[in-house]
Amino acid sequence: MQDRLLETIAPYRDRVDYLEIRLEQSESTAITFRGPQLDAVDRGFTLAGGIRACHNGGWSFVTFNGLAELKERIEEAISQAKLVGKETTVLAPIEPIKDYVTAELGLDPRGVSLAEKRRLMEGYNQLLLEFDPRIQTTSVNYRDRFGITYFVNSIGTCIAQERLDIQAGFGAIARGEGGLVRQGYESFHSRSDYNALVGIEARVQGAAQRAIRQLEAKSVKGGQYTVVLDPYLSGVFIHEAFGHLSEADFVYENPRMQELLSLGKPLAIEQLNVVDDATLPGLPGSLKYDDEGVPGQRKYLIEKGILTQRLHNRETAAKLQEKPTGNARAINATHPPIVRMTNTAIEAGEHSFDEMIADIQEGVYAVRMLGGQTNGEMFTFAAAEGYMIRNGKIAEPVSDVTLTGNVFQTLKDIEAIGNDSVYLNGGCGKGGQMPLPVSVGGPHIRIKNVVVGGR
Ligand SMILES: [Zn+2]
Repeated sequence: MQDRLLETIAPYRDRVDYLEIRLEQSESTAITFRGPQLDAVDRGFTLAGGIRACHNGGWSFVTFNGLAELKERIEEAISQAKLVGKETTVLAPIEPIKDYVTAELGLDPRGVSLAEKRRLMEGYNQLLLEFDPRIQTTSVNYRDRFGITYFVNSIGTCIAQERLDIQAGFGAIARGEGGLVRQGYESFHSRSDYNALVGIEARVQGAAQRAIRQLEAKSVKGGQYTVVLDPYLSGVFIHEAFGHLSEADFVYENPRMQELLSLGKPLAIEQLNVVDDATLPGLPGSLKYDDEGVPGQRKYLIEKGILTQRLHNRETAAKLQEKPTGNARAINATHPPIVRMTNTAIEAGEHSFDEMIADIQEGVYAVRMLGGQTNGEMFTFAAAEGYMIRNGKIAEPVSDVTLTGNVFQTLKDIEAIGNDSVYLNGGCGKGGQMPLPVSVGGPHIRIKNVVVGGR
C-alpha cells in the first residue's frame, strides 16, 4: 500500500508547493447500553482518506472513499489550493521519513467475539443498575478500533502506523429527594489489551458510588478558598485552561495572546513544570509520528515557571520561526490535521497530600471533573465531587463545586505541587474534531484565592 501511494503521488509532486495523502484502513466495534436496554451494536470497516494540498499559502482538503477515485480527488485538491493561495507557502523543513510502526498487542479485541464483549459490558451495566435503588439510569459505551494509517507527502515521507484504541465509559445517574439529580462517571482506555477492561468491577461501581455520594452532599457555600485539586482535575486544568492556549494556531491568530505568551516569560511559580509528551508508552495521546510525518516529542511548555515552548504543526512553526513539535493531529484520515495536544501534564512536585492540606483552616478539595468551559484566559470548571477541608483534615462532602479564574493568575497562585502525578485518559474537542484521544496528567495541586461558586 505504501508503495502504491508513493507511485500515485509522484506525478503530482511538482504541481503544488506541498501535497499529502493519508489513507486509513480501520475496523471497529461499538456497544452501547442506555439503562437496562442494549441501545446499539455497530461494527464498521472503512477504507477512506484525505488529501491536503498547499499552494501559495492556500490550503485545500479533499476526502476520498476507496482508491478508485484517488487521482480525480488529487486533481481536485490541487486546483482548490491554487484557487485560494494568494501568499507564500511556509512550512518548517523536516526530514522525509520511511517507517512502518506496528501496534503492540496484548489480547487483541479483534479476536474477541461480539457476544463476549456484549456479555462483559452487560455485566458492568447490571452492577451500576443494581448498586442502589436511587440509581435511576446508566450508560455504558464500549468501543474498540484498530486502524492503519498510510501517509505519503510530496517531500518523500512514507509512513504507515498501526493504532489500537480500546475504550469504555460508564455513567450513572442518581435521583434523590425533591428531584435532585446527580451523576457519576468512570472511563478506561487501553492502546494494546482487551484484558484492561476485564476485572474492573470496583472502578465501574465507583461511577454509581460518586453519584450517590453527591446526593448526600450539601451545596458548598460560595466564596474564595484555598483549593486542592485532585490529579484528574489538575490535569484537566492544565489541558483546558493552559494547553489550548499553547497551541500555536491559536496564538498566531491572536495578538493579545502573542504578547501574553511570549517565550521566555515567567508565567508560573518556579516549581511548576508542564510537559506535552507524545513519547510515553501506551497512553491515548502517544504517537511515533504526527499526521504530518513529524516525530512525536517530549516538550516542556513551562519549565521552572518559564514559558519555554508551544505546540506546532509545520506551518505554525515556520510562521513563528520555531521548530515543529509533532503536534499536527487529525481525528481520522478524513479530517485535516490541526494543532493538538498529546499527553499533557503537570510534573510531580515534592509534597504529600497530607502536607498540602495540613495548614488549611477552611478550604475545598475538588475531585474529578463534571464539565467546564474556557474563554480565552478565563476558565470555569465544575468538579464532580467536593469535600471541605477543615483544620487540616478532609471533612464533609460538598456539591456544586465550580471553580472560576484567570489561568495566568491561577498559575501564579499555585502554592504546592503534590508528589503523586498520574495520567488519565481524556477526549479533546477542537475545530469540530472530537473526541481526539489525549491524556491529562498531574499531581494534587494546591491553589490559593480560588473563587468557588456554590448553588
Ligand atoms: Zn481539549
